[in-house]
Amino acid sequence: MLLRHTTDEVLERTALTVNPAKTCQPVGAIYAALGLHNCLPHSHGSQGCCSYHRSALTRHYKEPVMAATSSFTEGASVFGGQANLLQAIQTIFTVYNPDVIAVHTTCLSETIGDDLVQIINKAVAEGKVPAGKHVIHCNTPSYQGSHVTGFSNMAKAFVTYFADPNAEKTKKINVIPGWVEPSDMRELKALAQSMGIEIVMYPDTSDVLDLPHTGKHEFYPKGGITVEQVKASGGSQATIGLGPSASGATVEALQKKCAIPGTTLELPIGLQATDRFIDSLRTTAGVEVPDSITDERGRLLDVISDMHQYLHGKRVALFGDPDQLVSLTEFLTLLDMKPVYIVTGTPTPQFEDRIRKALGGNVPEAKIRAGAQADMFLMHQWIKQETVDVLIGNTYGKYIARDEDIPFVRHGFPILDRVGHSYFPSVGYKGAMRLLEKILGVLMDRQDRDAPEERFELTM
Ligand code: SF4
Repeated sequence: MLLRHTTDEVLERTALTVNPAKTCQPVGAIYAALGLHNCLPHSHGSQGCCSYHRSALTRHYKEPVMAATSSFTEGASVFGGQANLLQAIQTIFTVYNPDVIAVHTTCLSETIGDDLVQIINKAVAEGKVPAGKHVIHCNTPSYQGSHVTGFSNMAKAFVTYFADPNAEKTKKINVIPGWVEPSDMRELKALAQSMGIEIVMYPDTSDVLDLPHTGKHEFYPKGGITVEQVKASGGSQATIGLGPSASGATVEALQKKCAIPGTTLELPIGLQATDRFIDSLRTTAGVEVPDSITDERGRLLDVISDMHQYLHGKRVALFGDPDQLVSLTEFLTLLDMKPVYIVTGTPTPQFEDRIRKALGGNVPEAKIRAGAQADMFLMHQWIKQETVDVLIGNTYGKYIARDEDIPFVRHGFPILDRVGHSYFPSVGYKGAMRLLEKILGVLMDRQDRDAPEERFELTM
């Protein structure tokens, strides 16, 4: 019983967080920056922060995640990190030669109050940024928000720095994918391609964090959107953002800077959310949905109806990122499951409203929380009060699953003890089928484990 001190008595807390259902802002900023081709993320703070961010991403993706750091020591911590960042910019362009350095702040540099715009302008004025190269930035104070906020801030910085309002007008559609896996980004591109639609997607970490093994190390992998493509996205006919928390700000920025009409949908996880994404692509581009996609949808429906008996009425607890949770909730409700406990550590306006909408009037008893005190400790206490049939969340949920003997589906960020998330999508109809398979797998394993000998069935 690793969590044996957790009790079922819930005391309202105003300051303390125990086992947060989130990680820190710069992790998201680095993940987004890796979706820009030939970009080196740079952490403006101490080495310890950067090591943590890199290791969190490296452990999740099982790929070496590169990032530089301003390496604050006592002097920078007191007097500010300008000298460190100026030196870093010069050294990085000389030694590592990226097209872009994407700087994000940390708790420390935010508390000091370093002005990144001023420092970057000084670097340019002093000739430390070679011609044709770029230094971009976003602010990521980690005492606010979460890794999702950091992702959103860096994605928006792509628009602030690069999107060109005078770019040539095209029929392309910008797709802002939100914080999803490289496999999901690959799937979104494949869906658009099979509809014959040209999209510009960013950030795009496919072919960056899901690289084939070639025996050759490439410091800058072949994937990622190029600066030229982001510039040209200013001339696209429309933007579709996926996930309001991770993509809403980028859609708005494109609308404001380049007057591109934008729509922000929930992440296309599950049947209905994928329907809305496909329909949005269809109506925006004025195309027909090909049979290949209709067939995929039909196969998903077939599995749902075949397996409904195992899912009906099952109580689920889920934790993780707000955009993921809203779409998961809608999908689980469609499956006639009962999402009863839903927590996200990311402070999210209208989170409860979005979840209630996804529940569609079902499960009125659902407990929903967002923010710093919406942690895994609270969810565990709720589970102790009344247990669930399935727990869905990132790797940190394994402690609760083990102590309470609950079937556990790993989904979200970070997943440190399994593989597959970088390679198999959970968006789209195919992704929904995989999610369904994972949920059914743990439920049926449990049924097999607990069945008395006379009820131990070969065929389910
Ligand atoms: S929470 Fe703040 S201090 Fe901690 S790793 Fe993140 S940026 Fe650094």
